[in-house]
Amino acid sequence: MKAIAVLTSGGDAPGMNAGIRATVRTALTCGLSVFGVKRGFQGLIEDDLNSMYSTDVSNILQRGGTILHSARSEEFRTAEGRIKAAENLRKRNIDGLIVLGGDGSFRGANDIHREHGTRVVGIPATIDNDIWGSDFTIGFDTAVNTALEAIDKVRDTAAAHDRLFIVEVMGRRAGFIALEVGIGAGAEEILIPETKTDIPEICRKLRNRYDNGRTSSILVVAEGDEEGNAYEIAKKIEIHSGMKSRVTVLGHVQRGGSPTAADRMLATKLGYGAIKALLDDAAPCMIGVEDGSISRHPLADAWTRKKELDKLLVQLSSGLE
Ligand code: ATP
Repeated sequence: MKAIAVLTSGGDAPGMNAGIRATVRTALTCGLSVFGVKRGFQGLIEDDLNSMYSTDVSNILQRGGTILHSARSEEFRTAEGRIKAAENLRKRNIDGLIVLGGDGSFRGANDIHREHGTRVVGIPATIDNDIWGSDFTIGFDTAVNTALEAIDKVRDTAAAHDRLFIVEVMGRRAGFIALEVGIGAGAEEILIPETKTDIPEICRKLRNRYDNGRTSSILVVAEGDEEGNAYEIAKKIEIHSGMKSRVTVLGHVQRGGSPTAADRMLATKLGYGAIKALLDDAAPCMIGVEDGSISRHPLADAWTRKKELDKLLVQLSSGLE
């Protein structure tokens, strides 16, 4: 192996830059040439690749977003798009591709490997934490801390005005963020797609708390809860109980900001592990960190296996009245 390329794909996640830095510097130390691809798979199709050197990744460890920019590419979903992408790698003699992203990005990486033999390694980078094979994904810890800080502020207003607030956090298919944020913020209820949301029961418990002297409450809801988003939940609660609420949707603030120490460590381990996997000829695979150690799994595990929520956290989320 002589040259590798690195790209970021799908939604950005804080810590992607730390992952790029570790990837580039480990590769250079191992004597490889490195190319950075702009705008994910779309940049690969459009031949938007540049050589990267150590100074190109100076001062990015602490920055959110991604210096390589990210994108979603419809063209890469087609065989024709992937032919163009593979050709742009081939003409530079690039024989390894590192993809930082979620399971969709890994499917794309697997496709180009299957059709063109490109050696690919995936680094799980998504705030949702919904990828099997790594205890955490890059960006999750930062997103949780960002949301926590925001909810602590909402709590002040909820208490001052004796109000019920419903706060929506990201998580279309999974409740990892809502669960940790809800517990960390002391939310009265946590609504996630993995557990049944019982609106009448929530109303009963809220009413009970008010009867016992509580004057304000916070509900944390994952955007993908089966009973709907925060606005829909607010409406259902009002219809069922007459209780009015205020809705706060945290949205994209959760994706930005400087990565936490935990995300910087994770990204650094994963970037290092990805280059080692390429050099060991272990591609195609996904790199994870499990119980503190770097692990490798087949890429397909990312979309065929489902990561479960921590059972203790699920129990705690409904147990602390
Ligand atoms: P996030 O968790 O932030 O959504 P993701 O990697 O899952 O990240 P997607 O939008 O699902 O994000 O995928 C990113 C890109 O990967 C897509 O725009 C597309 O170019 C490519 N991709 C996704 N699924 C496939 C697939 N089945 N075949 C080929 N390419 C794919």
